[in-house]
Amino acid sequence: MSDKKYELSKTTIKNLEDMDFQCQRCSNCCRHDEGYVFLTKQNAMAIADHLNLSLHDFMEQCCRLVERGDGKVLCLKEKSNYDCIFWSNGCIIYPVRPTQCMTFPYWPFLVNDKQLQKEEKRRCKGLGKKGDHTLEYKISMYELEQNSEYFVVEK
Ligand code: SF4
Repeated sequence: MSDKKYELSKTTIKNLEDMDFQCQRCSNCCRHDEGYVFLTKQNAMAIADHLNLSLHDFMEQCCRLVERGDGKVLCLKEKSNYDCIFWSNGCIIYPVRPTQCMTFPYWPFLVNDKQLQKEEKRRCKGLGKKGDHTLEYKISMYELEQNSEYFVVEK
């Protein structure tokens, strides 16, 4: 999910090949830092269903709206310590976690910016660790993230 579209160039594919990642279960990507977990409409409906909530109640209880170019888009709430609202000794909605969580770290803007990857390594202990993700898997996550759309709630 991004305001900018990146084509899948040869350089991008090389960058994906070079990116090693093995999740270390540190949960740093879910906790401590102020950030945004944006949702697609499908993400919101799947999580609401998983929690046995109506979409309206899920949005009221678990979400906030954030200004984006297109209007106000749906994003998960954070706790006062900046942990994600769904983090409790791990992700409590893991089977239906948002696209943004599933596709990390193969986000187009990150894959295409080596300097940003270096900075991200300070936060993510898994980035740079040899993992078992194939290039096909990395490309599928890259494209999923690239093609997913913000849930615009208000124009
Ligand atoms: S939804 Fe789950 S995986 Fe995504 S940031 Fe929250 S706790 Fe982490």
